[in-house]
Amino acid sequence: MKIVMSHTMGYCKGVSRALDMAQNAIEDARRAGLPVYSLGKLIHNKQVCNRFAQEGMTEISGPEGHEKGLVVIRAHGVGDALRSDFLDAGYHIVDATCPVVKRNLLHIGRYACTHTILVVGHNKHPESTAMLEVLLDGKPITTKLVTALDDVGEPEDGVAYAVFVQTTFDQSLWAQIKDVLISWRRKGVEVVFANEVCPSSVNRRTALIELARQCDGVVVIGGKDSANTRALYSMVIEMGRKAWHIEDESEIVDEMRQCAILGITAGASTPHSLVENIVDALQQEK
Ligand code: SF4
Repeated sequence: MKIVMSHTMGYCKGVSRALDMAQNAIEDARRAGLPVYSLGKLIHNKQVCNRFAQEGMTEISGPEGHEKGLVVIRAHGVGDALRSDFLDAGYHIVDATCPVVKRNLLHIGRYACTHTILVVGHNKHPESTAMLEVLLDGKPITTKLVTALDDVGEPEDGVAYAVFVQTTFDQSLWAQIKDVLISWRRKGVEVVFANEVCPSSVNRRTALIELARQCDGVVVIGGKDSANTRALYSMVIEMGRKAWHIEDESEIVDEMRQCAILGITAGASTPHSLVENIVDALQQEK
């Protein structure tokens, strides 16, 4: 069996930055004698979350019921009301929102004065949730979540739309949704596309297409709750190749080793050390 690694995989810049900030927050909290929290899962990877938990970081979903301390906002960002709740309760916020995501949240606030906001993303994904929960002058704005082509519907009379897409959203589904929204323009509707899927996601998927073409099967490494990892797995299946979505070495199966050429890729929340461990385990004779 020959193993071929994707030339683009693993942490995106936003996730790397958030993890560095979280590590610094743990040390700062230790020096200050304060507890340190992450707002939700820091990233969609249980090994990394467990490591941060061992270092003292506790995952919380809101300010109530906890001793005040440092709270890290993950790369996906957070809704304005929840951010205010933490500040009002006296927490110190370590804002690890990816700068690209932050710009999108800022622009939603700007467009909201004149446009209805369409958020194209996964339901309940933290980045989509943050986009849907932007406030304007402290008040909710008009937003609609589009998760699939069927959700697009028809434009309302006299309404202008600003469209924001989750940075890790599926590129081909985004293209299809965009085509429908472009067709609205022909009916005289103003539709502004305010951002695009992140190049980091696009590059990872383009690299995977090249990889899958030369392999009998591809092992996709990453959290089962990671939307971008699941999307990578689906891409390989759609190409008619064998694929396995695994989180660690315990999920390796013999069929992987039976591939003449086995490809390896990993989602945006997957540490390089985990990829190395899995490759080492695959290379060991059973
Ligand atoms: S995918 Fe891109 S925009 Fe999203 S967190 Fe990573 S670097 Fe930032």
